[in-house]
Amino acid sequence: MSLNAFPKRIRPRVRVNEPLGRRTTLRVGGPAEYFVEAMSLRDVADTVQASRELGLPLHVIGGGSNLLVADAGVQGVVLSLHGMKKINVFGSKVHVQAGANLSTLVNRCSSEGVAGPQSLAGIPGSVGGALAMNAGGRYGEIADYVERVIWINPKGELESRYREELEFGYRSSELRKGVVIEAVLQGSIGDRGELIAQGREILQQKLAAQPYSEFSAGCTFKNPKGQSAGRMIDMAGCKGLRVGGAMVSNRHGNFVINTGDARAHDVLELMSQVATRVFEVHGVELQPEVQLWPCRSLLAA
Ligand SMILES: Cc1cc2nc3c(=O)[nH]c(=O)nc-3n(C[C@H](O)[C@H](O)[C@H](O)COP(=O)(O)OP(=O)(O)OC[C@H]3O[C@@H](n4cnc5c(N)ncnc54)[C@H](O)[C@@H]3O)c2cc1C
Repeated sequence: MSLNAFPKRIRPRVRVNEPLGRRTTLRVGGPAEYFVEAMSLRDVADTVQASRELGLPLHVIGGGSNLLVADAGVQGVVLSLHGMKKINVFGSKVHVQAGANLSTLVNRCSSEGVAGPQSLAGIPGSVGGALAMNAGGRYGEIADYVERVIWINPKGELESRYREELEFGYRSSELRKGVVIEAVLQGSIGDRGELIAQGREILQQKLAAQPYSEFSAGCTFKNPKGQSAGRMIDMAGCKGLRVGGAMVSNRHGNFVINTGDARAHDVLELMSQVATRVFEVHGVELQPEVQLWPCRSLLAA
């Protein structure tokens, strides 16, 4: 299909065969058939509509910090909202666009005295990705602060939904089936100095425990109920296990790192070996937390 098939207005925003690896923190994977960088709600709406009309699968990429993109790349359209990153604070309420960086949001909340989102300090990626994944950790998850989300739902309609109308689970939410545009978060009023210190402390804890300076996609597997996937992987003797350029981190068993020249194929093979060993030792089937692309299209054409 040629670029001319896209409506004229959106055409300047479309890139063909855009490499995706460099847009992920794991740094592996092939190109997107079409890549669109949206700067406005209209760009997003036009892209969704064009994808539906052209029968192309649509995928949304945030900061790429939880993604494993196949070596062959992704068919259809990959949409980025990186150009939509406004943050406005009104008392203890925060209006934030999906493309905003989550760490920028946390820092802004601290410096404006909004308490709550500090629990998300140190989690890479975008606000849209955090909502789609319900990102979080031992101090809380983003769903704890959601008042409302504006998204394009799986039917392709622009919609605003309150927290109680949305389904969030452990590292999952129904928002992954659509396109998150913007959210209204509700914190509480706190002391700026204390919040800045709290955010720094949580960040330091993460830096001490995880291989932050390596290329990775964060935790590879979800924690089975009441258990730690990292500890199970460690006990199964997988730390340091390698396939090609992919290696299980010696620092944290649930992190697969790209030592430099890993391919998606290596990462997948390593994940499979780890899951097999954990099953043999613990009798538990690990489920991936990292999102594997290509996957099912978001919005039915
Ligand atoms: C070093 C490191 C540490 C990490 N620590 C944590 C942690 O402590 N806790 C935690 O939860 N995660 C952690 N992660 C994983 C990751 O940072 C989070 O899952 C993050 O929220 C993903 O956001 P993203 O913007 O990078 O999403 P991406 O990786 O780009 O995408 C992830 C999923 O979200 C979807 N998505 C992205 N944007 C949108 C949107 N606007 N609308 C709809 N769907 C969208 C994508 O389609 C995909 O399915 C870590 C990752 C790394 C590399």
